[in-house]
Amino acid sequence: MVKRVRIANLPTKIEKLDRLSSELGKNIYIKRDDQTGVEVSGNKIRKLEFSIGEALSKDCDYLITCGGIQSNHARATAAVAAKLGLGSYLVLKGDGEGEIEGNLFLDKMLGAKIKFITAEEYKNHREEIMNEIKNSLEKEGHKAYIIPEGASNGIGSLGYVNTMDEILGQEEELGIEFDAIVVTVGSGGTYAGLYYGNHVNDNSAIIYGFNICDTKEYFQNIVINLLVEIATYTGKKIIIQKDEINIIDGYPGLGYALSRPEEIEFIHYFAKLEGIILDPVYTGKAMYGLVNEIKKGRFDKHQNILFIHTGGLFGWNREQRGLLKLEIILVK
Ligand SMILES: *Cc1c(COP(=O)(O)O)cnc(C)c1O
Repeated sequence: MVKRVRIANLPTKIEKLDRLSSELGKNIYIKRDDQTGVEVSGNKIRKLEFSIGEALSKDCDYLITCGGIQSNHARATAAVAAKLGLGSYLVLKGDGEGEIEGNLFLDKMLGAKIKFITAEEYKNHREEIMNEIKNSLEKEGHKAYIIPEGASNGIGSLGYVNTMDEILGQEEELGIEFDAIVVTVGSGGTYAGLYYGNHVNDNSAIIYGFNICDTKEYFQNIVINLLVEIATYTGKKIIIQKDEINIIDGYPGLGYALSRPEEIEFIHYFAKLEGIILDPVYTGKAMYGLVNEIKKGRFDKHQNILFIHTGGLFGWNREQRGLLKLEIILVK
């Protein structure tokens, strides 16, 4: 049995997006996984409940993980570590010379040790670098546990297998059946967990993912591998074809963590419309994609759509804020 530490505020609410729904002629709902906590907010905490469960069962007192400079996952790991009295060591892609803000600020506040590495080192050597840190911590008498990027491995994805059960329970309570569940894809674990949970429950919803980096093909392969890995924990294999993994490509824009003005304007429009703030790196691009694809007719077969807000608010940086033209209206 896989151990789980309970840290997240669950279940997260499902709310209807009334005005967006009537504009698009659909019933669009949002699941507030941005409200799983404050320091520990977002989707990563659901995965960390399982990863850290394993770390604790192995008596580890240090967590090592990696990510971009504004990684939500790295910040969530630092927060959980502090909460549980563990050490955290983050390997971040960047030089650390820019402004200390957002997630990086919180990482420091939460006491994480940080090693900055180049994009090339990150791409080709991050596992090695994390292993070196693990060895040196062990020489100091610690026992360290390595969590991969985004906690997107079999054990981390169990967090979203469970989320599917949570959603099915909420469908009954609310008297709704979702025909489409939509999520952002960054490292694939959230999508894979939901897909697996949906499949083993024989639920008829279609799980759609909007990738915010890489390609459809890349993530179809990642998800297929994750589904196999998840089954090693649950004992239940599922057999599906690659083209059953519904990744909608076309919305990475300028690339990971880079924003186009139209994306930022969309996030602004959405915030004013529904009172909910999306993040520029993940959910803003995915919701922008969803609205565009609904307009283009890709969701014509679906009436009840659930979008998972996976968090990421601390990811806003100066550049992205700068793309937002806020008019200030002075009232005399
Ligand atoms: C990491 C992240 C995602 C993507 O989840 P994956 O499981 O990595 O695909 C989506 N939204 C936010 C805010 C994230 O931090």
